[in-house]
Amino acid sequence: MESIPVLESEKNSVLTKTTKIAVAHGDGIGPEIMKATLNIMKAAGAKIETESMEIGEQVYLSGNSSGITEAAWDAISRNKVILKAPITTPQGKGYKSLNVTLRKSLGLFANVRPVNALHPFVKTNFPTMDIVVIRENEEDLYAGIEHRQTEDVVQCLKLITRPGCEKIVRYAFEYARAYNRKKVTCMVKDNIMKLTDGLFHTVFKEIALEYPEIESNSQIIDIGSAKIAASPEDFDVIVTSNLYGDIISDIVAEIGGSVGMAGSANIGRNIAMFEAIHGSAPDISGQRIANPSGLLNAAVMMLAHIGQAEVADNIKNAWLATLEDGIHTADVYQKSISTKKVGTEEFAEAIIERL
Ligand code: NAD
Repeated sequence: MESIPVLESEKNSVLTKTTKIAVAHGDGIGPEIMKATLNIMKAAGAKIETESMEIGEQVYLSGNSSGITEAAWDAISRNKVILKAPITTPQGKGYKSLNVTLRKSLGLFANVRPVNALHPFVKTNFPTMDIVVIRENEEDLYAGIEHRQTEDVVQCLKLITRPGCEKIVRYAFEYARAYNRKKVTCMVKDNIMKLTDGLFHTVFKEIALEYPEIESNSQIIDIGSAKIAASPEDFDVIVTSNLYGDIISDIVAEIGGSVGMAGSANIGRNIAMFEAIHGSAPDISGQRIANPSGLLNAAVMMLAHIGQAEVADNIKNAWLATLEDGIHTADVYQKSISTKKVGTEEFAEAIIERL
């Protein structure tokens, strides 16, 4: 059986070498939250060297329809670790999503999105929720296979393969084992999509048998989503296909505090990419009020992945201390629990003071 790469554990924390990472500053709020994140990592003594790369809106506007330059591809293959701010993709028209291109081209098959409540310091109705959504990242309706049949009929292909299901389901159970999680829930819609979602579910049941110490169950995605919204404390690790995972992880992040808080890892065999789960938030871009926590949490996952767990822990603790002190960006600010409403830079400075 081939071994599946799980996020590298604290075992490597004694490593002291400097790791070079490729950095994409992104669109919209991207450059604002990236600057804050890099400043915090620098102040915490992260042993990283950054190589900036150009991807996203400006590249598209320059006439490159892929949204990514040759130099950026080179930076990715040289560095193999990417920290990426969100980029803008227009709805319903225009160029193909660069996020989808990156995930598919680089074989980033597992999207890991952890969210836990920070009660009572960040407002949530679910004080004990602690969920990791593990989303298949290359297949499903996001494979990008869409056709126009006639003027009035269009088609999008839902592509699910057995190897794809095996990789993501095994990753979810290995993750649960490595992080001492108790339960893995599979979310599908195989009462309707009997072949595609049926295959995902079948593979889940087969692989679950190899992990008898971990509880497993499955839910139909519609009622499963309703249950997440009503009682997220009942969930632990959730494994699901690409589209469902994208949707439920935003729900999980929002009910946990804010969509601006959650980070994610995109894991492949040789390359890993770390990013916030949210988008480029054009509605607040340039106002310097965005919460950098999502990208910062992605950076924390990245530091653990490259063997700098101690630095990762220091940043995480300083971030928690800042939130505990009630220093909050507008998206999580609540008069009753916050002491100060701050912008992106001030929030980053408060974290740096607590390192
Ligand atoms: P969004 O996540 O950018 O924003 C949704 C809402 O959440 C907005 O009101 C926004 O202000 C708020 N928000 C998001 N991040 C925040 C933060 N860090 N701090 C405070 N508030 C925050 O979703 P959208 O508006 O649907 O998408 C905007 C663009 O981002 C689109 O072009 C979309 O394609 C793109 N997008 C990119 C990625 C990515 O690069 N990985 C992911 C999702 C969406």
